[in-house]
Amino acid sequence: MPRAPFDWIDAESERRERAGLVRTLRPRAAGQDLLDLASNDYLGLTRHPAVTAGAAEAARRWGAGATGSRLVTGTTELHAELERELAEFCGFEAALVFSSGYAANLAALTALGPHGSLIVSDAGNHASIVDGCRLARARTEVVPHADPEAVRKALDAHGGPGLVVSDSVFSVDGDAAPLAQLAAVCREFGAALVVDDAHGLGVLGEGGRGALHAAGLAGAGDTVATVTLSKSLGSQGGAVLGPARVVRHLVNAARTFIFDTGLAPAAVGGALAALRLLRTEPELADRARAVAAELHARITAAGHLAVRPDAAVVSVRAPSPEAAVAWAADCRAAGLVVGCFRPPSVPDSISRIRLTARADLTERQIDMAVGAILRTAPTV
Ligand code: PMP
Repeated sequence: MPRAPFDWIDAESERRERAGLVRTLRPRAAGQDLLDLASNDYLGLTRHPAVTAGAAEAARRWGAGATGSRLVTGTTELHAELERELAEFCGFEAALVFSSGYAANLAALTALGPHGSLIVSDAGNHASIVDGCRLARARTEVVPHADPEAVRKALDAHGGPGLVVSDSVFSVDGDAAPLAQLAAVCREFGAALVVDDAHGLGVLGEGGRGALHAAGLAGAGDTVATVTLSKSLGSQGGAVLGPARVVRHLVNAARTFIFDTGLAPAAVGGALAALRLLRTEPELADRARAVAAELHARITAAGHLAVRPDAAVVSVRAPSPEAAVAWAADCRAAGLVVGCFRPPSVPDSISRIRLTARADLTERQIDMAVGAILRTAPTV
């Protein structure tokens, strides 16, 4: 009797269960009165009336879907407008919008890391970068986290064309990459620098122009940024920003651009409205960072371990995966939603609860959040 095709899943599920690593979906109920410190809505814009109106108007004007891939029918004037404004805001020559930040990373790495080249990737990089490296024809070398000297050695040993890729702000601990040093190493070897600014756009740099703008690297001929429209911009989608010739190359060579349906007009309209709010309300970025700093200060003052946040992500260490799950569940019972990070999503096997600061949190809400986190904490 041959084994049924999915029998192996049962063994894997049991192993996951034993390790306390089972994940389940929990649909959000509309109108549920929970304080959210788990989403990526860093500037609190996803429900901003101007953003929802931008999304609704775009859907009414252009339709619920993009109708086709970008090179066929899926590029509206609104897509072109978003690309122009996004590039200008962040200080790059050109931008190209994708259906997600994930797709943008796959595009940048596969199209800019050709056969014979070397991609040097930080060990803490996001899964979409890891997958982009896997799909690229280049060889990938993973280097220790935030270690420009290791990057230098890898490029030196390779000798040929290179591309260095890093998150600007790492999803797990919320720490920032040493961008200035990475750029200096890249220039020494004529390598390209690709930075995933998913957590930096809207939070870092003048008025939220991003980590590369803050580091004086935006618009450089050898530097490319990838972003998501789903965090600070409160919408959905992603983009690659860089020199015009890089963007023209992606239009012709990036498979996640060519073979994917264009981003839905509502997402484009929402992101565009949010981007315009960032221009008129530059203090939003400062506020998100200040809220993160306050959360970090108050939680570490109580004896918990957390890396000082460079942007809006605050991760607090938990003693075990089970403790992290229980901590997050107890917070929820106290009316607070926090993220829970545990293996295999964390490269160092350290479980954490993860808080994301939001620019629109009031002092009362911050008090409530800190109170719930400390009350439900495992003993330290
Ligand atoms: N890069 C990083 C660092 C991210 O945190 C995320 C989102 N979790 C992505 C890329 C993917 O972006 P998107 O959700 O738009 O696909």
